[in-house]
Amino acid sequence: MNKKPSELTIKSRTNPLLDTLPPYLKDPANYEKIRKVIYDTFTGSCSSGHGDMMEWAGCAKCQQRFSERSVVMKKLGFQSPAQYLAWQKTHEHIKTLDPKYVLPKYNSL
Ligand SMILES: [Zn+2]
Repeated sequence: MNKKPSELTIKSRTNPLLDTLPPYLKDPANYEKIRKVIYDTFTGSCSSGHGDMMEWAGCAKCQQRFSERSVVMKKLGFQSPAQYLAWQKTHEHIKTLDPKYVLPKYNSL
């Protein structure tokens, strides 16, 4: 067998959902920063800190914030919530890797 495992691995690890992300979103160095922007948009809304989903869904302030968040995510370069989730999952995975194997720019798991 004359297989090249390294090439195969790289190919099979490419996630098509993440191909279209702008380079700065692919850069692990920016991950925490970007996640914080999104997190702040989501939670910085209202002091009541709703205990359950129904309460949260009924709060005009929080719903306003929620729609702002999708605008913020679009501005950051995400095309869909699914893409955002895949992006988050990928970067969470990178954090578990030895830094010496992490490339500065990349788009795979
Ligand atoms: Zn609220």
